[in-house]
This record gives sequence, structure tokens and C-alpha cells, in this order.
Amino acid sequence: METDQATAQSSCNIWVVAEHRDGELLEITLEMLGDARQLADKLRAQVEVLLLGHQVENLVARLGQHGADRVYLAQHPLLERYLSDLYLPVVAGLISRYSPGIIILPATANGQDLASRLAARTGAPLASDCVIFKPGPAGELEAVCPGFGDQIYVRLLLDGPLRIVTMRPGAAGVEKPKKSKTPEVVKIDPVLSPGRTRLVEYQPGDPRLIDLVEADRIVSGGRGVGGPEGFKIIEQLADLLGAAVGGTRVAVDNRWIPFERQVGQTGKTVAPRLYLAIGISGASHHIIGAKGSETIVAINSDPNAPIFKTAQLKVCADLHEVLPILVKKLEGLAGKSK
Ligand SMILES: Cc1cc2nc3c(=O)[nH]c(=O)nc-3n(C[C@H](O)[C@H](O)[C@H](O)COP(=O)(O)OP(=O)(O)OC[C@H]3O[C@@H](n4cnc5c(N)ncnc54)[C@H](O)[C@@H]3O)c2cc1C
Repeated sequence: METDQATAQSSCNIWVVAEHRDGELLEITLEMLGDARQLADKLRAQVEVLLLGHQVENLVARLGQHGADRVYLAQHPLLERYLSDLYLPVVAGLISRYSPGIIILPATANGQDLASRLAARTGAPLASDCVIFKPGPAGELEAVCPGFGDQIYVRLLLDGPLRIVTMRPGAAGVEKPKKSKTPEVVKIDPVLSPGRTRLVEYQPGDPRLIDLVEADRIVSGGRGVGGPEGFKIIEQLADLLGAAVGGTRVAVDNRWIPFERQVGQTGKTVAPRLYLAIGISGASHHIIGAKGSETIVAINSDPNAPIFKTAQLKVCADLHEVLPILVKKLEGLAGKSK
């Protein structure tokens, strides 16, 4: 049930489905907004965000700063965490009422799940895990998606009144916020009852082991770490920071860390708030996967290491000297906060 007076529009407006966790927008939401804004400006369309959740109204201002013209705000205690049984009917109901032209979702576990269900429900074409999307030559939506572990890139043209894409986290980067914008808010009052799937308990996983694509902080090691023994202090640091462990292809090829922990062109594209690069030279094949990070901190003993060109915080020192000091400091801070 909608309580708003907004008129239904048949348009090619662009929708972004916001993803948030524990009261904060995921970076990918802001990345999607940046790309949606550019696309909307080319198509003379509006950028509209679907914000589903519980007590999430405080996120609206940030959505506006990043380009949202309008926010459909659906709040309900049952929407606190993503459940397809509950999110799908709310979003599908909004689609049939407001007829967007393009829907962009994050290529995260939840975004992919919702996107495929929406495509099945509406019959709309879907392109998954895109890194680029733009207007096609004859009014279609053009999407570029990597495949086979990024060994190939496919260019797809999506046609029809509704097109759905999911966007790879870290592919676009977050644009600087524009301070003045206040989006129009359309409040949706969803009538929901527990579906066939009910959330009984929510337990965050071990941050060290979560998928790098989803990680908020990453501590990554490279050849400079020196071996599997050297990775023990990287793991310790990750524990203290509540971060996931990643690394370069060298670390993977040497079997110091498993393949799913590799960041880079043939590994994962990541977009954490903090990326700590330790003993990593900063080869382009690696950096391409980490450049979507909000802040990169590099520790390297070579003042000419290319990683220093990308990092915002540069520590030119021997990691074997710096890391024990850092760990000790963080342990001290953790002790104080207990
Ligand atoms: C097609 C292709 C795809 C690739 N895909 C990927 C990919 O997905 N991901 C990836 O990471 N790589 C990838 N690579 C490999 C990439 O080109 C680099 O070789 C690799 O990233 C280098 O890893 P590294 O930084 O660990 O090692 P190095 O380049 O050897 O750098 C080690 C760094 O550690 C520093 N160091 C050494 N000792 C210390 C110390 N005690 N204290 C502080 N710093 C120290 C050194 O100064 C140096 O800068 C790919 C290559 C190709 C050709």
C-alpha cells in the first residue's frame, strides 16, 4: 500500500536499488548512483532510488548528494535485512506502478538474487556483473560484462521497456558528493507479513573470510611479506581491524593464500573503505582490482614502488619493523575499549 501522492509515470527513469548494512550505505550504492546520474543526464531522465529497510530514513540525504532525484522509501521491521520473499513483492509492486526504464542493482549476493527474480517476474532482459553501461546505438541499453574470470568482455544490447543490470562493486568508483541536493521522498507503506522464509538469526561471519567483494576493510599482502609465515601477522592485523585478508597473484601462486583471496585483473575487484597494501609493488594488474577502494594505505620499503602513486597514505618502511608496532598499538586500543 502506498501512502504517497506521486503520480505514476511511464518513463525511462533510472532506478537504483540501494544496498545498506548496519545503518550504512554500501559503497556500491554510491557507485551505481554516479553511473546512473551520468546515464540519466544523457537520456534526460531522473535517477530514482529504492531504499528498503527499517529506520533507514537517515540515508536519504547521502543518496541526494550522490545524484538521486527521488527516493522511494519503504520502511518496515521485516525489511531490516534482505529476504527475497519480502523484497521481491515490494519492488515488483513499485515497478508495476511507476514503470521505470532501467533498474540497476549491485552485483552482490543480494543484488544478484533480487535482479534475477525481478527479471523472471517482469520478463525484462538482465545483464549481470556489468562494469560499464551506456545508451546503445538505437535506444537500447549497452552493457559490458566480463566473463570467464575476466578473460573476455562481452558487449550486450538490452532492449524493451524495462532493462535490468547488476553492477560490479569497484568497477566505477565513488564520485565526490554534491552538497546541496535534497531528493524528493516518496514514502511507501508496505503491508507485509512474514513470508515462507523467515529470518531467525543474523550473525556476521568471520570478517577475515568474507568474500572480498563484500568486505568493508581488506588487509592485502604481496611478495614482500616473504611467505606463509609472514601472512600470520597480516591475519593478526586483519583480526584487529575486523578486515578480510587478500593478496596479490604472487601470494596466490606461492600458495600463501587461496585463489579466492586474490585481488586484481584475474582475481577480485574490490571496493572496501580501507585497503591496506603490504609488501605489494602496485603492478597495474593488481591495482585495477583495488582502485575502487575509498582509502589505500601502502607499506613498502621501496620509495619508488608504483603503489605509492595510488595510495593516499604512504609508509615507506620495512614491513617487518612496522607491522609488529602497528599490531601492538591496535592491541592496546582494543584492550582499552574492553
Ligand atoms: C595477465 C596477467 C594478469 C595478472 N593478474 C593479476 C591479478 O589479478 N592480481 C595480482 O596481484 N597480480 C596479477 N598479475 C601479476 C602482476 O603483474 C604482478 O606481477 C603482481 O601483482 C606482483 O605482485 P607483488 O606486488 O606481490 O610482487 P612484487 O611486484 O614482487 O612486489 C613486492 C613488493 O614488496 C616490497 N617489499 C619487499 N620486501 C619488503 C619489506 N620487507 N617491507 C616492505 N616492502 C617490501 C618491494 O619493494 C616490492 O614493491 C597478473 C599478471 C598478468 C600478466
